[in-house]
Amino acid sequence: MNGKATSNRTRIERGRSALGPALELVHTGRAPTRAVLTAELGVTRATAGAVAAELEALGLIRVDSRPGAAAGSQGRPSHRLAVDDTGPVVLAAQVHADGFRAALVGLGGRTVATAPGCVTVQADPAQVLGEVVEAGAALLRESGRRCVGAGLAVPSAVAEPEGTALNPLHLAWPAGAPVRDIFAERVAAAGIRGPAFTGNDVNLAALAEHRHGAGRGAQHLLCVATGHRGVGGALVLDGRLHTGSSGLALEVGHLTVNPEGRPCHCGSRGCLDVEADPLAFLTATGRDLGPEVSLLQQSRDLLRGEYDDPAVRRAAEELIDRLGLGLAGLVNILNPDRIILGGLHRELLEADPERLRAVVADRSLWGRSGGVPILPCTLDHNSLVGAAELAWQPVLDDPLAALA
Ligand SMILES: [Zn+2]
Repeated sequence: MNGKATSNRTRIERGRSALGPALELVHTGRAPTRAVLTAELGVTRATAGAVAAELEALGLIRVDSRPGAAAGSQGRPSHRLAVDDTGPVVLAAQVHADGFRAALVGLGGRTVATAPGCVTVQADPAQVLGEVVEAGAALLRESGRRCVGAGLAVPSAVAEPEGTALNPLHLAWPAGAPVRDIFAERVAAAGIRGPAFTGNDVNLAALAEHRHGAGRGAQHLLCVATGHRGVGGALVLDGRLHTGSSGLALEVGHLTVNPEGRPCHCGSRGCLDVEADPLAFLTATGRDLGPEVSLLQQSRDLLRGEYDDPAVRRAAEELIDRLGLGLAGLVNILNPDRIILGGLHRELLEADPERLRAVVADRSLWGRSGGVPILPCTLDHNSLVGAAELAWQPVLDDPLAALA
């Protein structure tokens, strides 16, 4: 073999191994131009150009070479890169205490289509997951788009490697339900191609926010959020979810924040789960709970529209103090460089950011943790987008193999 052939082959192999990293850079918006892609990958302009062309040929990204499309790193025009809005999609599904939702999500975390969810969740997970997959399959038929996989978000810790829902208590599903297998069966039965994945909803929200939202650029990202009921947490370390040895890390809902507080379904009392979720907030306001909309939406409406009401403000301050206590404990243990809050916690932060930051600073090691930025989550339906991230991961790891 002559030297030229060897060098050509090396370049091709280097190019192939760069396809996944390049796609992830475009997918997360970190490489808006070919010049930035070249710099981020640390390859030659020729290699970056070949990689971008290959991803374009696969139907994953668009390369816009019109003059003046964008400025490169030296201020020269560079080809603009963007995900292909007509490319493949994944099916994303979410089940929560107040219903379910299905969506088609493209690269870049872009929701292409959503199906309106139902408002009651059956006690049989096979029935619910069958319905949500069917809603997604209908979206796929309407769109005519190629589907490369499916992801599901559930409001429960998901034990690894079994893929079972350990504590789906707000759903009345049996503990230990094999949700990942059920979801994969339903996806296959609906004729949807590609692998199927399942994860905890707050873990997936954190992953989505790290890639597309308020968590971008954080190295040690702590996310704490309420779903429709209960409280969850997640940690993204250097871009990867920290899920512990068996998938159960960051079950922050059972931190004690009020030793004499409400009994919790875990057997303890005064847990964050029952002291800082939408039900706790509405109960503290003394308002009657209406059945028309979710508890999360009722809480949001009160915080945004009636914060001048002394009972609403008092309830908010009580929850902020308990949430702050929980966050301070987590900050002392995990030393994150950013905290993002979702669901009701995002609303509480926006209602009184100074109070929450003061509680965290007051309870933290030498006051230092008061310097950790606390930000609201920014994505709509971040658990759904995170479920899509699970399904996109094989494509991000090896686009050629995943699309073959
Ligand atoms: Zn508990």
